[in-house]
Amino acid sequence: MERIRFGKTDLMVSRVGFGGIPIQRLSVTEAASVVRGVIDLGVNFLDTANAYSDSEEKIGKAIKGIKREDLVIASKSTAPDKKTFLEHLDLCLKHLGVDYVDLYQMHNISSTKLRDTVFGPDGAFEGLLEAVKIGKVRFPAFSSHNIPLAIEMMKTEKFASVQLPFNFVDDAALEEAIPLAKKLDMGFISMKPFGGGLLEDASIAIRYLLQFDNILPDPGIEKLSEMEEIVSIVNEKKPFSAEDEIIIKKLKAELGPNWCHRCDYCQPCPQGIGISAVLTVNSLIKRMPFKQAFKMANTGIEKARTCIECGDCMKRCPYKLQIPDLIKDKIALWEETLAKNAY
Ligand code: SF4
Ligand code: SF4
Repeated sequence: MERIRFGKTDLMVSRVGFGGIPIQRLSVTEAASVVRGVIDLGVNFLDTANAYSDSEEKIGKAIKGIKREDLVIASKSTAPDKKTFLEHLDLCLKHLGVDYVDLYQMHNISSTKLRDTVFGPDGAFEGLLEAVKIGKVRFPAFSSHNIPLAIEMMKTEKFASVQLPFNFVDDAALEEAIPLAKKLDMGFISMKPFGGGLLEDASIAIRYLLQFDNILPDPGIEKLSEMEEIVSIVNEKKPFSAEDEIIIKKLKAELGPNWCHRCDYCQPCPQGIGISAVLTVNSLIKRMPFKQAFKMANTGIEKARTCIECGDCMKRCPYKLQIPDLIKDKIALWEETLAKNAY
């Protein structure tokens, strides 16, 4: 597969990377087979995180025996303090079975409070610099869901790469963050190239991103067939067209501004409500035969009726969604669907 230069790191990365969230759902053997298959398809950029339970370990098992320099490995730590951050990094190296990672990212720096902590005395950033100095990390990096805050952090020029949500509906990075990354020669990793599963047309979603020569889409995949499809889209080199533009305009209008990005930062809910599953039930209704949608959604919707409107989730949602109101809308939509299907 084609490789691109990853900003000032000068690393040459495959035109798409591999995101290590979904392999958490697989057994160790299944995960190893998916990751090996992905590498055999020509993908050399693997992205994981301490927060993704056993993802680092599974990737570690899969890459045993592969020459270290043939891979570009990125991981992340959510630790706000230096000590825990360095402990996460040591665990990461142990899990992966490597001496260094190419990128280590301060994970999801999305609030000014957290930003101030990580940059404060004995904060994670001190740990990151130390790790670079002793060679456990080649390049310092961060990820965020808060675009204005990320732009501020990029402007400090302390980081070699940034990872932000970016796809054709979630395009807040388009105006300033992406041109800034280019100007500063930073690597730019596009998190959620399929909008967390909402964008079902893989070809349009990937070809939209491939228009940007400095962007590395990082899809999380669970089945090798998903990456095979993505790689064939990349290799086909079919340009993003005016007709595609019309299709995405229509999809954006259908989704509206209040769509849930399925990031689950709103959790935990004290009532145990699976908020993202409830807020995206319309996609389920659209995609699945009703009987299957019922099996998958009804229990979650019943649980959603117990929302006490405490507002805890809204404080954590980076997209400022009015979650209790949206939950009510989705319950109403579900009731309409039940009535239509005579349940
Ligand atoms: S407002 Fe409702 S959904 Fe949000 S945390 Fe409270 S109970 Fe859970
Ligand atoms: S409600 Fe907000 S925080 Fe929760 S999953 Fe959706 S977008 Fe993410």
